[in-house]
Amino acid sequence: MPHANGHTNGAADSTLRLPVPGSTKSFWHTELHDLADHRSTPELPTECEVLIIGSGYAGTSVAYNLAKSESTATNSVVVLEARQACSGATGRNGGHIRPDLYGHIPTYIKRYGVKAGGAWAEYEIAHVQAIKKLVAEEDIDCDFTLTRTTDCWADEEAAKKAKANYELMSSLDLPYMDDVDFVYGPKAAGVSGVKDAKACATYTAGTLYPYKFIMSLLSRAIASGKVNLQTSTPATAVHEDAAGGFVVETPRGSIKAKKIVHASNAYVSSLLPEYSKAVVPCKGICTHIAVPEGKSAPYLTNSYIVRDNDKVLSYLIPRRDGGIVVGGSAAVFYPHLEQWYNNTDDSTLIEASKDFYDGFMQRTFRGWEDSEAYVSKAWTGVMGYSWDSLPHLGEVPGKPGQYILAGFNGHGMPVVWLAAKGIAEMVATGKAYEEVGLPWIAKTTVERLQKAEEGPEGGDILA
Ligand SMILES: Cc1cc2nc3c(=O)[nH]c(=O)nc-3n(C[C@H](O)[C@H](O)[C@H](O)COP(=O)(O)OP(=O)(O)OC[C@H]3O[C@@H](n4cnc5c(N)ncnc54)[C@H](O)[C@@H]3O)c2cc1C
Repeated sequence: MPHANGHTNGAADSTLRLPVPGSTKSFWHTELHDLADHRSTPELPTECEVLIIGSGYAGTSVAYNLAKSESTATNSVVVLEARQACSGATGRNGGHIRPDLYGHIPTYIKRYGVKAGGAWAEYEIAHVQAIKKLVAEEDIDCDFTLTRTTDCWADEEAAKKAKANYELMSSLDLPYMDDVDFVYGPKAAGVSGVKDAKACATYTAGTLYPYKFIMSLLSRAIASGKVNLQTSTPATAVHEDAAGGFVVETPRGSIKAKKIVHASNAYVSSLLPEYSKAVVPCKGICTHIAVPEGKSAPYLTNSYIVRDNDKVLSYLIPRRDGGIVVGGSAAVFYPHLEQWYNNTDDSTLIEASKDFYDGFMQRTFRGWEDSEAYVSKAWTGVMGYSWDSLPHLGEVPGKPGQYILAGFNGHGMPVVWLAAKGIAEMVATGKAYEEVGLPWIAKTTVERLQKAEEGPEGGDILA
C-alpha cells in the first residue's frame, strides 16, 4: 500500500513473524471464553484513536485502562489479535504472581544501585495488592489467591549464594525485606516440604487463573463501548500517514489510527525491527499435574520456585481443586538452542524437557511419593526475552505516537499491570514516561537498544 511520507515499520513480508496456527492447548484454555473468537464489528473499522496490537495481559490491560480513562482521546480503541483472544503467553503461563526478589533484584542493585533496584522490587511487590484489589472491585472469577511463595534451593552452592543474597538485601535497609522469612540448613526441607531443600525463603505472592483474569478485563473493556476487538486479524505493517497518524495493514484491510500500542511481546520486532536483538522470542514449557481419583496428596498451601540438585528451576502453583500447574526446566533444554531460542513455534513441546515433569511431585515433595500424580496436560508458550532482562516500556525512540510494552520474559505477572496503567496514561494524556510513575530502569531508550545491538548475542538470556 502506498503511504504518505514513506516511513514504515516492519520486516519485509517474507520475514514477518506471526503467531503460528495449531498451538498446543494449555490447561487454562480447556474451556474457551465466549469472546475467544470475538469481532466487535463484522468489518474491520476504518479508523480509531488508538490501535493496540495484541490481546494478552499487556494489550488487554492497556485497553481496559483506556476504556476507564476520562480522556476523550481514547473513545475509540481497536485491539488487533493475530489468533484467538489471549492465546499467547498469558493464556499459557504458570499463573504465578511472584515478585522476584532472589533472581533479578540483586542484579539490578549491582547494576543500577540500591535505590533503583529496591524501587523495582517495590514495583513488582505492588502488583500483588493491586491485582487483588482489581479482582475484588471488578468481581472477577479467576481463582485469585493471596499466598506465600516458597523459594527453594536444593543445591548446596546455590543455597549458599541465596543466603549471601539474603544477607546483602537485609543489610541494605530495604523495607520489603521485613516480609521475607529465610531458612538455611537442615530445617529448610521441613519448612518448605521440598525434600532436598538446603535453603528456602517465603514471602507474599499471589496465584490466579490468568486466562479468566484477562478475558474478564477484556470483556469489561468491550462492554464500555469504547473498545473494538478483532481476533484472527494480525497487524502486518504500520505506516506513518501525512496527517501525523498511522495506517496499519492487516489481511482484512487497513485501519487508520492516531496512536499505536505495540503489545505483541515475543513478536514485537516483526513490526519494530529495532527491537530484534532487544526482545527475542523464546519458548517455555508448562504442565498441569493431577492426582488420580482414589489417591491423595498433601495440599500445598504455598506457591513455589524449586531449584533442584542440578539447579533446574521450576515454578509451581497449587490449585484449589488439588491440581498443580508447574513449568520451567529451562536448564534442561538450555543447551539445545534451536528448540527454544528465537523460536515462536508453540505448536510443539520442547523435545529436551517434554518428559521432565513426569514424576516431578513424587521426587520433589514430601508426602507425594505414593500419590501417582501424573501430567494431565503439557503445552508451550512464547515469551519475549529482553536482552537486559527488563521490559521495554514507553514511547518508541524516534517514533512519536507509537508506544511499546514488551519484553516481560517469563515474568510478566508482577510487571505488566502497572506498566499498562502507565502506558495507558501516556497514551490518553500525552504525559511523558517520567510523569506516570513507572520505574526509570524499564524505560525504552536508544541506549538500551544499542547495547542489545552491540553486546554479546542474547545478553542476560544466554549469560
Ligand atoms: C509457559 C509460560 C509460563 C509462564 N509463567 C509465568 C508465571 O508463572 N508468572 C509470570 O509472571 N510470568 C509467566 N510467564 C510470562 C508471562 O506469561 C508473560 O510475561 C505475559 O503473559 C506477557 O503478556 P503479553 O500480553 O505481553 O504477551 P502475550 O500474552 O504473548 O500477548 C501478545 C499477543 O499478541 C498477539 N500478536 C502477536 N503478533 C501480533 C500481530 N502482528 N498482530 C496482532 N496480534 C499479534 C499474540 O497472538 C498474543 O496474543 C510465562 C510464560 C510462558 C510462555
